[in-house]
Amino acid sequence: MAANAQGVAEAPFVWHPSNTAEAWQLKQTFGAEGVFTAGGTLLRTQWESGLAAMPTHLINVGAIEELHRLGMDGESQTGHIGTMITLSEIRTSPLIHKNFPLLTEAARNIAAPSIRNLATIGGNVLSMVGDSIPALLLYDPVLHWHDGSNGLEEPLSEWLSTAAVHAAWKERLLIAVELAKPTLDTNTKRFVAYHKVGRRDAFTPSVITAAISLQLDPDHRLSDVRIALGGGQTIPSRLEAVEAFLTGKPADKKAITQVYGMILESFEPKGDAFVPVSYRKKAAANLIASELWKASR
Ligand SMILES: Cc1cc2nc3c(=O)[nH]c(=O)nc-3n(C[C@H](O)[C@H](O)[C@H](O)COP(=O)(O)OP(=O)(O)OC[C@H]3O[C@@H](n4cnc5c(N)ncnc54)[C@H](O)[C@@H]3O)c2cc1C
Repeated sequence: MAANAQGVAEAPFVWHPSNTAEAWQLKQTFGAEGVFTAGGTLLRTQWESGLAAMPTHLINVGAIEELHRLGMDGESQTGHIGTMITLSEIRTSPLIHKNFPLLTEAARNIAAPSIRNLATIGGNVLSMVGDSIPALLLYDPVLHWHDGSNGLEEPLSEWLSTAAVHAAWKERLLIAVELAKPTLDTNTKRFVAYHKVGRRDAFTPSVITAAISLQLDPDHRLSDVRIALGGGQTIPSRLEAVEAFLTGKPADKKAITQVYGMILESFEPKGDAFVPVSYRKKAAANLIASELWKASR
């Protein structure tokens, strides 16, 4: 935080750029002294808890119209969610509910309405551990950034795998998340579920977040299996080995038992003082096994 000559903390300068180029230029000008802010809900908790210092310059991107766009391209069946779309807007959007129902369910499970009214999807994604991420990961998400040139597109899973170690992304402005609507083959049924397990029912940090989407063919075999897990400070990811294992199999007792074992072995959540790793692994394996069981019924 900036301080005056007497060492008394001063509020940061707040900038309100009106377009992406201006926002990006401000960031280049201020470097580490300038931070993009959207709803400010996460940043504020970081400052208040002493996890991060308040910067000298806040670059509030809320006035940039382009970042508020929410729409669906009918031809490509691609959803465009501007980074400034709030979690409340996601929660109540008929477009999101129709095309990306797991995201509606995830937004319903994040914080309380007062926070959701401010908190944005961009801020949630860029926290790296947001509860919306497991749901997003099932829709082949692509991040659209402004990096001062023509723009940059990057699959969310790729960004997640490097973001913690390579901080270059902090120089860029996120514009939108693009999602692909899964296609449904004829004669198949799609089963989807999103769960957040917390230490109490509502308004709680997650122990585990899980999203699952799969198709059941007429012969009861599984196809297009997508599973993602996160929770707490765990960076969410897809369970590609489990997805490949289940593809083409019936969701019977034998397969579900094997999946339970695979998750215990391969899922690597982060533990903390309240919830150990072993508990998170078991909670995740139980959740996915029970959803597979429900799907098979
Ligand atoms: C009481 C409380 C409860 C909460 N509960 C939950 C919960 O249950 N689940 C959950 O997932 N989260 C929770 N959060 C965390 C937070 O509210 C969410 O992650 C929220 O979505 C963050 O969005 P924001 O717009 O407020 O982000 P901000 O705080 O504005 O920004 C977050 C980060 O993203 C960067 N950023 C934001 N927009 C851009 C952009 N366009 N380009 C580049 N960088 C950008 C900022 O610099 C910052 O690093 C909670 C927070 C509070 C205070």
